[in-house]
Amino acid sequence: MSSQHVQRMSRLMAKTLREDPADAETLSHRLLVRAGYVRRSSAGVWTWLPLGKKVLDNVSRIVREEMDAIGAQEVLLPALLPKEPYEVSGRWSEYGDLLFRLKDRKGADYLLGPTHEEIFTLVVKDQCTSYKDLPVMLYQIQTKYRDEARPRSGVLRGREFQMKDSYSFDVSDEGLAESYALHRAAYRRIFERLGLDHRIVSAVSGAMGGSASEEFLAPAPAGEDTFVDCPSCDYAANTEAVTFALAPVDAEHPAIEEVDTPDTPTIETLAAHLGVPASATLKNLLVKVDGEITAVGVPGDREVDLGKLGEHLAPAVVELVTAEDFTDRPDLVRGYVGPQGLGKVRYLADPRVAPGTSWVTGANKADTHARNVVCGRDFEVDQYLDVVVVEPGDPCPRCGAGLRLDRAIEIGHIFQLGRKYADAFGLDVLGREGKPVRVTMGSYGIGVSRAVAALAEQTADDKGLAWPAAVAPADVHVVAAGKAVQLALAERAAETLAGSGLRVLLDDRPGLSPGVKLTDAELIGVPWILVAGRRSSDEVVELQHRATGTREELPLAEALARLT
Ligand code: ATP
Ligand code: MG
Ligand code: MG
Ligand code: MG
Repeated sequence: MSSQHVQRMSRLMAKTLREDPADAETLSHRLLVRAGYVRRSSAGVWTWLPLGKKVLDNVSRIVREEMDAIGAQEVLLPALLPKEPYEVSGRWSEYGDLLFRLKDRKGADYLLGPTHEEIFTLVVKDQCTSYKDLPVMLYQIQTKYRDEARPRSGVLRGREFQMKDSYSFDVSDEGLAESYALHRAAYRRIFERLGLDHRIVSAVSGAMGGSASEEFLAPAPAGEDTFVDCPSCDYAANTEAVTFALAPVDAEHPAIEEVDTPDTPTIETLAAHLGVPASATLKNLLVKVDGEITAVGVPGDREVDLGKLGEHLAPAVVELVTAEDFTDRPDLVRGYVGPQGLGKVRYLADPRVAPGTSWVTGANKADTHARNVVCGRDFEVDQYLDVVVVEPGDPCPRCGAGLRLDRAIEIGHIFQLGRKYADAFGLDVLGREGKPVRVTMGSYGIGVSRAVAALAEQTADDKGLAWPAAVAPADVHVVAAGKAVQLALAERAAETLAGSGLRVLLDDRPGLSPGVKLTDAELIGVPWILVAGRRSSDEVVELQHRATGTREELPLAEALARLT
């Protein structure tokens, strides 16, 4: 290892805070701000300070190494994108309010890229003309933009965030399966190396017809996703996917009826009826619109920002739904909002559900909706939001054992897209027989900045962050806990460690008590803390292991030998 520079805390821009930021809801949000890793710039938009940038770069480096190892080639596409390709794919409108749109000085429409399938397809159309040019896998690590309905949890859900996105291009289905398998294996290695506890779960992909999709989930209470896993076999799925499995298509049943409610309420009427301010955010809201029960909810975080919803609602009569509304309406299953969460309010009616069954437990409770609604048969998958109810103990579709239900953070997502984009853009290459062949695609994403927060969620304790070595901003945090003698010893330790290639953070700040410095060291969360304290004149230091909390007094030479 080549020798490193010592990072001095006296010079480091990392101001720690004793108090949690007022708006912080999750552990990672609180600690990353308090330990001086990130600062909020505007809602869902973050500045990465020196310590945070180091962690982010460590994550990126590991991602890059593993992508390179499967033969993916790194590129960098623009984040500022013209409207036209997204009109061709239909996503200019499908994305709705999630898209950041802007105009140039001539009035031409642009967007800030939320994901890049369209643009990669065009790049490959331009660069690859023959089957000999394929397969090809391309990736970038780039800033993405999504105007999330409710950015929160710090960098876990940003409106500007770092994503590694890659795309594979193959001439055959077998080729696509291979590219997908390569990504899947690379993702496992990446999350393994990062030290992220994770599960791979089946996910519902954009369309029926079985194109494969899996999510990588990091179990954590702060997660916004629910997944099931089986204690006796290796079955794991997100809640959408498990509903498919638990409610197989039954041709005997009449199809669910889908009804548009022509007039829907304004935000003001809605809020007034509920007795809440129009700026409120509500969970799983069920309301009656002109006598019909409907629901208002948003996918993912399952909450709705009334202020935003208002733009899409026309005047109508609204009443709050009560339990009685369901007793003689066995046809009502659940309500949902259109594809973007903010479109037309509709409901689904299912004549199969008998009165008194427990398919609806009412508003304001998470993860309680209908059973037996079959996505893809009863309604289109792209209209599909958060239909599901799976409960702990439901039978595993593979082995019948009782399923467990847990919260998790989505850290990665892999898709076999098939020919959707190739069809939209006419992406063909000349095949072996001299005829054009339509290309098939995969797309694969990792939330690089989200992974930093997910790691913090999984590893932090009540004292602060506790990074796994692979991503930590330094290997050793040397603390001069005292005056001249301590500082001299700490300096010597730091230089020796750096000389042997370790990344060292040295707390050489003058005028701070040992207590303050140690509290900061625990908050910052470097894996090893070496303290030059009261026994410094005997060359004895204390070595602490941040994650386990073990601490030991030993001669400096021994401590150094232990670390190098
Ligand atoms: P979510 O369900 O959390 O909204 P998504 O399914 O919309 O995520 P994808 O389109 O699958 O996200 O994007 C790939 C990856 O990018 C996700 O698995 C996640 O790790 C990350 N990601 C998505 N949205 C955000 C965000 N707003 N902030 C940070 N990371 C994000
Ligand atoms: Mg999303
Ligand atoms: Mg998702
Ligand atoms: Mg996803």
